[in-house]
Amino acid sequence: MDDPAATPTSTAPGEVGDPFRFADDLGPAKFVHVTERTTGLRAVVVIDNVAAGPAIGGTRMAPDVTGAECFALARAMTLKNAAAGLPHGGAKAAIRADPRMDDADKERVVRAFAGAIAHLTEFIPGPDMGTDEQAMGWIRDEIGRAVGLPAELGGIPLDELGATGFGLAVAVEVASPRADLDLDGARVAVQGFGAVGVHAARFLAERGCRLVAASDSTGGVVDAAGLDIDALVATKRSGRGLVDQPDVHHIDRDELIGVDCDIWIPAARPDAIRADNVDRLRARVVAQGANIGVTREAEERLHARGVVSLPDFIANAGGVICAAVEYGGGTPTQAFATIEDRIRGNVAEVLERAGSTGRLPVDEANEMAEARVRRAMSTRRWT
Ligand code: NAD
Repeated sequence: MDDPAATPTSTAPGEVGDPFRFADDLGPAKFVHVTERTTGLRAVVVIDNVAAGPAIGGTRMAPDVTGAECFALARAMTLKNAAAGLPHGGAKAAIRADPRMDDADKERVVRAFAGAIAHLTEFIPGPDMGTDEQAMGWIRDEIGRAVGLPAELGGIPLDELGATGFGLAVAVEVASPRADLDLDGARVAVQGFGAVGVHAARFLAERGCRLVAASDSTGGVVDAAGLDIDALVATKRSGRGLVDQPDVHHIDRDELIGVDCDIWIPAARPDAIRADNVDRLRARVVAQGANIGVTREAEERLHARGVVSLPDFIANAGGVICAAVEYGGGTPTQAFATIEDRIRGNVAEVLERAGSTGRLPVDEANEMAEARVRRAMSTRRWT
């Protein structure tokens, strides 16, 4: 985006303001507000750019989700999908509702949402916060398209297989020589021991790393000699938190930032590394599983210190790559091969460019992705 004033940023909660302020030369192609009286459905869909093909994007359900958030996330999907070389543009949908509502009510709302977007054939909904494969199954039943489906409908269970965590491990593998880091014995800290974090730890362990610290919303655990990943997973699977983990040293969850390690993986919330804690970080590589895991100011400080920070939409693209392969009728094996191929190539290119220009990897990644969107747009008569 050329005009920073046009960058979709957050606004007062719940306010979109003038939708024209989100428009720039990349998009959005369409912005739709839908309501349905009998179910109480209120939702917005932002189809940002469809030059590369029908747009894939998550459907977020939250009581406080905003239209502005939806614009920003739709653009992020355009860049992520273009960077990954997928034949898909970017979009996002937001349903303003409490996802913990009764199952039957949720089904009615989701089905009403599906009906309301049936005509938006250039949008392929996927799961996001507050929606899951079951919800995608309802949408597919209504309108014949959705990704992140149950296995019985041809879905690839990406969180169970660890598509995003696998991609993060590949990204770290490519980055490690540039950080002068030998993966054999490299120490990993994971913030957010959930679907992304667990598998990132597991796939990095397969590459010789050891998990020395992990946290979840309940607390953190540390062992310089290496934590037992299976034991931590068993605790989480039993419905308990890391705070309940026996026979390990416990820390406060926010102490994870200062743990002695080589690779630090934010896999929980946005803004995990920011101005007020970046100086405590001791790792040489940061691989962003969470979206916007590092603030701009923190990115600059990491760069100045020589820490290699791998941009979120490059390193955590495994999930959407998997969804695109699923949409094309592919298998899990094909999905993992595509993730490896795309993330390996992109991390190498971004770090090579950053190495020769001296600019931040995130700036190089944005430029690379935007150029790919523009190339796709140049092939289209109507964009
Ligand atoms: P998840 O709900 O499975 O796991 C999140 C974990 O973070 C949980 O264990 C939770 O307890 C923990 N957590 C929450 N707040 C925390 C805090 N303040 N400190 C430490 N831990 C905390 O979610 P997920 O699917 O693993 O997604 C994690 C992040 O990665 C999210 O930001 C998501 O948007 C992003 N992401 C996920 C995917 C994917 O494929 N699932 C793809 C791209 C990006």
